Amino acid sequence: MFKVKSQIEFDMAHYLSGYNGKCSNLHGHRYKLIVSIKSETLHQEGQLRGMVDDFGNIKEKLKEIEDLFDHKLVIENNEEGLLLSEKLKELPNSFDVLLVPYRPTAEEMSRDIFHKLKAMGLDVCEVELFETPTNSCTYTED
Ligand SMILES: [Zn+2]
Repeated sequence: MFKVKSQIEFDMAHYLSGYNGKCSNLHGHRYKLIVSIKSETLHQEGQLRGMVDDFGNIKEKLKEIEDLFDHKLVIENNEEGLLLSEKLKELPNSFDVLLVPYRPTAEEMSRDIFHKLKAMGLDVCEVELFETPTNSCTYTED
């Protein structure tokens, strides 16, 4: 069995609606995303001979994930999130808000990223998202 991994990092702020404690304040992280693709076999001919997939192809897809989340403020698309988003739009500074249909935890984000990569045609088997250097969530459907 072969398992290839590729990783990217991005900076993102999030707000956890309905959370009590230190993380209830709007704050940011430097996220590290590690994506794994596994295969029993390698390509036998052509450009991809001897490979599971081209790292360049994987990086291209990861760049789309990076562009989606990097330097965004990610808020859940609920009543409170919409109110916060509207208030921020009233300020003179422009805030790049990304509304998502879930509480933006490492768990929910790793599942979302897994499905986004699948939809892009990447045969991903595992997504690990580090929210801090010592805390991560792994999402897999194996
Ligand atoms: Zn956080």
